[in-house]
Amino acid sequence: MAPTRTHKITLIPGDGIGPEVTAATVRILEAAGEKTGCGFEWERHDAGADAFAKTGEYIPQALYDSVTQNKVALKGPVTTPIGQGFSSINVTLRKKFDLYANFRPVKSLPGLKTNYPKIDLVIFRENTEDLYAGLEVMVQPDVAQSLKIITTKGSTRIARAAFEYARKHGRKKVHAIHKANIMKLTDGLFLRCCKAVAAEFPEIQYVEHIVDNACMQLVLNPYQYDVILTENLYGDILSDLCSAFVGGLGLVPGANIGADAAIFEAVHGSAPDIAGQDKANPTALLQSAVLMLHHIGETGTADRIQRALEQVYAEGTKLTRDVGGTAGTRAFTEAVLAAL
Ligand code: NAD
Repeated sequence: MAPTRTHKITLIPGDGIGPEVTAATVRILEAAGEKTGCGFEWERHDAGADAFAKTGEYIPQALYDSVTQNKVALKGPVTTPIGQGFSSINVTLRKKFDLYANFRPVKSLPGLKTNYPKIDLVIFRENTEDLYAGLEVMVQPDVAQSLKIITTKGSTRIARAAFEYARKHGRKKVHAIHKANIMKLTDGLFLRCCKAVAAEFPEIQYVEHIVDNACMQLVLNPYQYDVILTENLYGDILSDLCSAFVGGLGLVPGANIGADAAIFEAVHGSAPDIAGQDKANPTALLQSAVLMLHHIGETGTADRIQRALEQVYAEGTKLTRDVGGTAGTRAFTEAVLAAL
């Protein structure tokens, strides 16, 4: 079917497994779009070490311009040097476009055997503040300091995003996760903002858990959680923890959403241990692309892809190694294409 509508989308393939999982995702989106009349115009941009080698900038101006214009990007993971080197490309992009809400749905796929069947929870992680503000300084040669920034504005808007989502999607409970027993000013402010927003949503149960207890409670009984509302660092850690409930990092999608732009990316990183070996699971990025399709109003195309993906998982014969299968990235992608 010739496209009846075309979407311009910024595509950042990223590093490590990024180019493999973005290539698979783009193929599936284009094939689904052919059936639903939805076309894509991809604007590809490098970011990180490769971009620096080519353009002398870690995030080229052309990438910023493309996201500003298109307002939507699909992004593969980018490698960030550990303990030295350039600042995180992800953190920089989230701050530049003020993508304050990091939304990560954690949902079991049919047919996949895990220790925790039928998980369905969502994480709302504040995405621009906290220790990720990147305000670090060497106070003395042997003393380093990192500033934790928490504001009323940042805390209130992520809390509102979580509660509005809960109301819209019929979710019953929001857990605010914090460490206000120790960080009384910063996490105390975060909690006060969450509580104030919770009061506007009396039909939704509001619960507070201290983050260390939350880790134990999650592993013991994740079903008690519905919507998790938390700060940047705790949200990052809890996302990886929760991904294990549904089969691991190869599965969990994410969206970074602001008032003027949105960048869709998986929870996982660039997985250098399996890069270039046809081993990466593209499901997490594909499900991020499904979130993106909903965001741009392509619900039919999104549902078609999600059904095909779920069929492949339900059949269980063409799954990647991270979830117990033997198929490579390419064979898995072919299976989803066939199921479309
Ligand atoms: P990682 O998420 O890349 O990998 C952790 C483990 O999960 C590895 O064993 C990896 O093989 C596995 N894994 C991850 N995604 C997978 C997939 N799609 N299919 C199959 N297995 C998968 O975490 P890491 O090793 O701690 O980080 C590697 C790099 O990624 C670092 O430079 C880090 O800064 C970066 N990172 C980037 C992002 C991002 O761009 N959004 C997010 C997290 C980490």
